[in-house]
Amino acid sequence: MTRQFNNLIDGEWTAGERYTPNVNPSNTNEIVGEFASASAEHVTAAIAAARRVFPVWSSYPCQARADILMRAAQTLRAESQRLGELLSREEGRALKEAISEVIRAAQIFEYFSGEVVRTGGEIFPSTRPGAEVFVTREPLGVVGLITPWNVPIAIPAWKIAPALAYGNCVVIKPAELVPASTWEICRILMEAGLPKGVLNLVMGPGRVVGEAFLASPDIDAISFTGSVATGRHIAAQAVQSQKKVQCEMGGKNPLIVLDDADLEIATDVAIDGGFFWTGQRCTASSRLIVQKGIHDRFVARMLEKMAALKVDHALKDGTQIGPAVDERQLSQNLRYVDIAREEGGDVHGGGRLERETPGFYMAPALVLNTQNHWRINQEEVFGPVACVIRVENYEDALAVANDTQFGLSSGICTNSLAASTHFRRHSRAGTVAVNLTTTGSEYHVAFGGRRASSYGAREQGRYAMDFYTAIKTSYVRA
Ligand code: ADP
Repeated sequence: MTRQFNNLIDGEWTAGERYTPNVNPSNTNEIVGEFASASAEHVTAAIAAARRVFPVWSSYPCQARADILMRAAQTLRAESQRLGELLSREEGRALKEAISEVIRAAQIFEYFSGEVVRTGGEIFPSTRPGAEVFVTREPLGVVGLITPWNVPIAIPAWKIAPALAYGNCVVIKPAELVPASTWEICRILMEAGLPKGVLNLVMGPGRVVGEAFLASPDIDAISFTGSVATGRHIAAQAVQSQKKVQCEMGGKNPLIVLDDADLEIATDVAIDGGFFWTGQRCTASSRLIVQKGIHDRFVARMLEKMAALKVDHALKDGTQIGPAVDERQLSQNLRYVDIAREEGGDVHGGGRLERETPGFYMAPALVLNTQNHWRINQEEVFGPVACVIRVENYEDALAVANDTQFGLSSGICTNSLAASTHFRRHSRAGTVAVNLTTTGSEYHVAFGGRRASSYGAREQGRYAMDFYTAIKTSYVRA
């Protein structure tokens, strides 16, 4: 019988209204588990529990708080193989990368374990004689976290860890397609000694569970990662009820390749950024802006490297690219490949693939001779589809790179210090990469974008403090 996984409400593993199967996209005959769906009443109970225990957690001894986060990190490391396999099975990520994501989650908990004791403040002289001014940080209260399916363990980790480190209580709703990884983080934190009610897990659909977060006056802040449409809806609702809000949304990220680029580096970076993780990254490089002198050599080398890519079951030895996460995503990818063709693009690859097990496999697609204003270059696909846009020179490349509603990440491959420096300064993106993929983010520095890609404070590193704490200014006459 398939195992059932319950919600975590006030420290108790609580049965759901109903259970939803978690299907392996590499083999749709395999059910990873059945996961409880929470009702609106469950969400209310979870939020109430978090609110009740907030006075305890926000004044918990800081060493004990740090120790809990560090123990969770140690368990994540110790169980990284099994948790990596679980992530692969629920999301379809190639195993090596899935294990790396679990290790990343461990690093995030380690980092924020240290942040517990680094949450200092500032002291200023007062303009009033005999007084002093203290600027300190306090937790917000109860934070609602809503996470997407494409990064099943690191995104929940980079929201839960700072929320707890800075003294908040949490109610989290993972994406319906990948609840198992978040369920495991919750189990690990409870085993690490987290008091009951500090972290609550409510699984289920956005329209029930997510909406209940928005409707609750007892949630002080919402951190969301997902689509632009949902993010805008959440931000608008949150502003109405004056909840602090942070949204990470889509991207249509440019990678510029200049004539003087190292061809091997440029093509490695484009293959990784465009196709690895099945293109299911908001930081994927989907617009390849290539200068005319290197264009033909770049395209030829890309096609050679693409021919060697192994798309298969995520757990199979040698697989580099797993399946799309589900049928809906795969159909969307294929529809966009058709759109690119109808718009006049020259499509290489891009069809549905059959493998030994039934799954949502797709060949990566490189679309040549595209124009930046086409839909295929303006709308996020979220699949292994990259388009080449040929340009005359660096100035044109920069203009094309910035001509988008999004602004999450961008990259440039060049050996020119002048060009890379100019691009780093003038790219309208939150993250810029030079001779590296547009996709890498590291846990100790800020992550986030501009315009349609992001709303609110940055995530990760000590920058996370700006979202997960409130500032207090105290004037004191001694
Ligand atoms: P995708 O289309 O990639 O699934 P979504 O933005 O729909 O992206 O989903 C991201 C997260 O937001 C998921 O956890 C999803 O359940 C949640 N969500 C979807 N709709 C809502 C909503 N109306 N309110 C709150 N959360 C929602």
